[in-house]
Amino acid sequence: MSVIKPIRVALLGVGKIARDQHFPAIAANPAFALTATISRQAAGTTALPHFSDLPTLIAHGPAVDAIILCTPPQVRYALAARAIDEGLHVFLEKPPGATLSEVVALRKQAEGRGVTLFASWHSRYAAGVEPARAWLASRHIAKVSIIWREDVRVWHPGQAWIWEPGGLGVFDPGINALSILTRILPRPVFLKQASLQLPENRAAPIAADLHLSDTAGTPIHMDLDWRQTGPQSWDIIVETDAGTLQLSKGGAVLTLPTGTEEGADMEYSGLYERFASLIRSRQSDVDTSPLSLVADAFLLGHRTTVDAFHD
Ligand code: NAP
Repeated sequence: MSVIKPIRVALLGVGKIARDQHFPAIAANPAFALTATISRQAAGTTALPHFSDLPTLIAHGPAVDAIILCTPPQVRYALAARAIDEGLHVFLEKPPGATLSEVVALRKQAEGRGVTLFASWHSRYAAGVEPARAWLASRHIAKVSIIWREDVRVWHPGQAWIWEPGGLGVFDPGINALSILTRILPRPVFLKQASLQLPENRAAPIAADLHLSDTAGTPIHMDLDWRQTGPQSWDIIVETDAGTLQLSKGGAVLTLPTGTEEGADMEYSGLYERFASLIRSRQSDVDTSPLSLVADAFLLGHRTTVDAFHD
C-alpha cells in the first residue's frame, strides 16, 4: 500500500493572519506538515526550526516542498520568485502582489519551473459563496450593491504597511468583496467610475465609492469605508428576477427568498484543501481579476483629501 507523504511547508511572515488562520488550518490538515517558520522579528511560535529569512532556510534549514507567504504584499514578489526558483510550490496570501504585472510574471515563472502557484482568495471559501454562485447562474440579475464598512482600528491596528503604496488601504478588505463578486456573477465585471478618499497623512485610501458593471450592463455599486464604528458591514446584495440574494458576514451567511443559512467558517481549511489538490495535480490557480478591479480603481479613481488618520 502506498502512503502519500505530507507536503512539507515553511510559513514566512509570522503576523496576524499566520497566527489567526494559517497555523490552525495547517495543523488540521493531514496533507501538510509545518516544517519551519521564517520571520525577521517574531520568534518561532512552535518547537519547529525558525529562520530569519528565506535564503537561510534554503541554505541551512530542513527540506521543504512549499512556502506559504503571509507577508504584506509589497515584498511578496521577490520572496515568491526566489522560492519558485528553488523549485518550491508557493501559496500567496491575498492580494497576490503589489502589482498585476509581477503576479503575471510569477505565474509564468511557476509554469516554466513546473511548480504550483496559488493566489489565494480566502473569502471565496466562505460558506455562502458557492451556493450563491449556483443560485445566480440561472437568474436575471438587475442590480448589485456591496457595502463593506469596518473599523480599521479594530482589524488593522498599527499595520503601517497597509497605508503605504501597494498596501491598498481600504481595498485590503475591499478586495475580499471583489473576490466574491467576481466568483458569483456569471459575467465579467469592469469598473466604470471610482472616487477615493485619502487621509492627508496617508498614501492609501480610507474610503472609496465604485460604480461597476458586468458585460450585460448590470449596475454594481460598492461602498467601502474604514471609519465604521459599531456594527460592521460585509454585505453583498443582488437583486434578481427571482427575488433578492444577500451574502452577509463576508459571505458566511446566505439569504435567499426561501430562507437564511449560516455556514461554519471554512475559509482557510478550504484554501489548504485547494492548495493540496493543486500540488497533487501539478496545477496553478492564479486569478488576478479582483486585483485588476482594484488596480483600475487606482487608475481611474478621482482622489479627494480627507482628515488625517492616526492609529
Ligand atoms: P501583519 O500582522 O503585519 O503580519 C505580516 C508579517 O510579515 C509581519 O509579522 C512581518 O513579520 C512580516 N513582514 C513584514 N514586512 C516584511 C518584509 N519587508 N519582509 C519580510 N517579512 C515581512 O499582517 P497580516 O494582517 O498578517 O497580513 C499579511 C497578509 O495577509 C496581507 O496581505 C493581508 O491582506 C493578508 N490577510 C490578512 C488578514 C487579517 O485579518 N489580518 C486576513 C486575510 C488576509 P516579521 O517582522 O517578523 O518578519
